Amino acid sequence: MAYLKFQGEGIFNGREILPAHQVLVTNEKGIIEEIIPATEAGADVQQHQGLLCPGFVNTHCHLELSHMKGLLPEKTGLVDFVTGVMQQRNFTPEKIQSAMAEAEADMQAGGIVAVGDICNTDHTITQKAQSPLHWYNFIEVSGFIPQSAPLRFEQAVKTYNSFTEKLPATGQHQTAVTPHAPYSVSNALFELINGFSAGKVISVHNQETPEEDAFFRNGISRFRQLYTQLGADISFFEHPGCSSLQHWLPQVTQPAAVLLVHNTCTTETDIRFAQQVAAGRQQTLYWTLCPNANLYIEGRLPHVEQLRQNQCAITIGTDSLASNWQLSILSELQTLRTHLPNIPLNELLQWATLNGAQALRMHDKLGSFEKGKQPGILVVDKRLDSVKRLL
Ligand SMILES: [Zn+2]
Repeated sequence: MAYLKFQGEGIFNGREILPAHQVLVTNEKGIIEEIIPATEAGADVQQHQGLLCPGFVNTHCHLELSHMKGLLPEKTGLVDFVTGVMQQRNFTPEKIQSAMAEAEADMQAGGIVAVGDICNTDHTITQKAQSPLHWYNFIEVSGFIPQSAPLRFEQAVKTYNSFTEKLPATGQHQTAVTPHAPYSVSNALFELINGFSAGKVISVHNQETPEEDAFFRNGISRFRQLYTQLGADISFFEHPGCSSLQHWLPQVTQPAAVLLVHNTCTTETDIRFAQQVAAGRQQTLYWTLCPNANLYIEGRLPHVEQLRQNQCAITIGTDSLASNWQLSILSELQTLRTHLPNIPLNELLQWATLNGAQALRMHDKLGSFEKGKQPGILVVDKRLDSVKRLL
């Protein structure tokens, strides 16, 4: 078996940056053998400008919305954005398929090796069947009218079965039925999803807009107008008088892990509450940041420092091309670096690699340079200006 040897300006191994005089050794398929001093590496060492880094993990994407690139205006707020997606998502199957193929190729070229992907439809199955990327498919369900819960859930389970049957490699261990968002899922629907989630990872759009917390705290919110526009009678709804997170998280007792996505309005009280609830039932929480989408939709970023100070496991997502100009983890890291220049580089890279792999339960093969893994190998510029894929 031939070995491949790589040396850069340092090696980011998934947790820390090792100094430049180390060499990463893999077999010819890119399966990690070891990291050794350059003095012991012998000949044929490839030299690269930049840090060697495991492949990126994108923990929040909607591949099926790729055809909506540039369609919806920026900074309108979430309520108008959600309305726009619902009204404008229908295109011809050809247009939808070709946009997905292009978006996936871009993700791959940009160093992404795995994706946590939200699926409202089965549109992505054909693309994923031939994809070299790893996928965790979150089959998303919504419905705020309690009476609609059984039917909505049944439809989601049908889509779930399509995915597990047609994508056997992904199978049940990388497919879950997942709630869309607290303001769009009734308690009855949360209960059905929860019953289907034992041992799974689920993903929830959490506290993406101040309107969401207002809906649960005092009931005065633009989400009420949204439901009126949709012709839905939500007069039954009594606001619980707490934040959105404090309303929904206690209801999802079964999943092994929960990805809280966006967290734009999450407070320190919410974080502590969530940690206490999760600890009480041995559940792992991941806090997924999609900074470019937050700037696109709401024009604001989450309190990243608060998450860091509370030792939250942070991961990175791109969201969809309906709310982002590109599906690039590097671009998300650049945005974080611009707004929060004090976060150490190794920490940012860990969010984009190992934490993401752990969140999607793929850390046995991805996320770090450890013997036996096949995480992909990138060269990332130290100033985060560029990324190049080696394997
Ligand atoms: Zn999303």
